[in-house]
Amino acid sequence: MNSQSFYSIAFKGLSQGKHIFEYEIDDKFFAEFGGGVVEQGKVKVHITLEKQSSLMILWFDVEGTVHMQCDRCLEMYDQPIKGLERIFVKFGEKDYIEGDEVIWVSTNDYQLNVAQLIYEFIGLAIPIKRVHPDDEDGNSTCDPDMIEKLDKYIVREGEENSPVWNDLKKLLDNE
Ligand SMILES: [Zn+2]
Repeated sequence: MNSQSFYSIAFKGLSQGKHIFEYEIDDKFFAEFGGGVVEQGKVKVHITLEKQSSLMILWFDVEGTVHMQCDRCLEMYDQPIKGLERIFVKFGEKDYIEGDEVIWVSTNDYQLNVAQLIYEFIGLAIPIKRVHPDDEDGNSTCDPDMIEKLDKYIVREGEENSPVWNDLKKLLDNE
């Protein structure tokens, strides 16, 4: 079985009601379907598919770690991720504009490939702030040598006291 068909859910033959699909996402998946910020990771994807007569609802429960570059010290680290996303799959021709939450499939289709959705939902589960997590004492676990080197070239703490920063902070505080 190739990986394209591995990530295809044959929904035609499913009875109405809920069905569970489990996937273990690993480096091979990211190499094949990725090409973005994440190239390595280990993520469990638990899909609940609810089939109804005219549509399907799919919940994607993702949990695991992705290997990525720390924004602060530029070293690689394992970022824990957790997320729950939902999409609707409707049958027939797309006839009006819907939100991103709806996927249209032809009435002739019998399977749905979820690889791209899994990749997107893993991406959505990644926090905006991508830095080494603090340890139990609240200390940064960033590579201290790298931080020291970077601080020589980049002004960091000082930026927070610049006039622009203060104005921005005032704006945010007033909200
Ligand atoms: Zn770091």
